Amino acid sequence: MTIADERSVLIVYPHPDDETSISGTISMYRKKGIPVSYACLTLGQLGRSLGNPVITNREELPLLRKQELLDACKVIGIEDVRMLGLFDKTIEFEDPEKIIKIVTDLIDELNPSVIYTFLPGFAVHPDHHATGRAVIEAVRRLPADQRPKIYTRAFAHNTEEVMGKPDIVNDIRHLRDLKLAVLRAHKTQMNDLADVYEEKLAAGDDTVLAYETFYIIKFDE
Ligand SMILES: [Zn+2]
Repeated sequence: MTIADERSVLIVYPHPDDETSISGTISMYRKKGIPVSYACLTLGQLGRSLGNPVITNREELPLLRKQELLDACKVIGIEDVRMLGLFDKTIEFEDPEKIIKIVTDLIDELNPSVIYTFLPGFAVHPDHHATGRAVIEAVRRLPADQRPKIYTRAFAHNTEEVMGKPDIVNDIRHLRDLKLAVLRAHKTQMNDLADVYEEKLAAGDDTVLAYETFYIIKFDE
């Protein structure tokens, strides 16, 4: 993937740490000086882990995850981080129009030429699906010639079976250290995963943290 000269990039995800999966790609935009805004819908209040070893408690987890998100974005180079204050694991139950309006307002303000989100139905978590659906609907409602591109992440096991090969494959092997640092910034949720990746890399596994892949949303009309 060559990084296009985008006007600006908007990321819309529901949870702090969702951005880890695209952190290599996003850092490439930032290195080119392209503005990136990240709208994170919740504070991951219900995050499964309190750290391993435990470093926080249920009440303080949201505050800590806020800081983890800011730390991770600093590593990636994202300066504009919006925390929208919705509650974890509730996005799927929100009125879809509320989420669509949030996305529409962000598009009006930031005028992005590309939006990164999740591919509905292929992103495992109901909040991920609801977020992707809202982004696609907000963009669909725009006049065709004013729509930003939508690049989506998908990681359900049946993704390639149903969707075929991803439209975009971005080689981020040269950014592995950055990606590990982004994962490590999410101390409570991602340290164990970073350990696993580092062990595999140490054992010579070149497939780890090698590519970030995306499906492009197409509107037929
Ligand atoms: Zn998530």
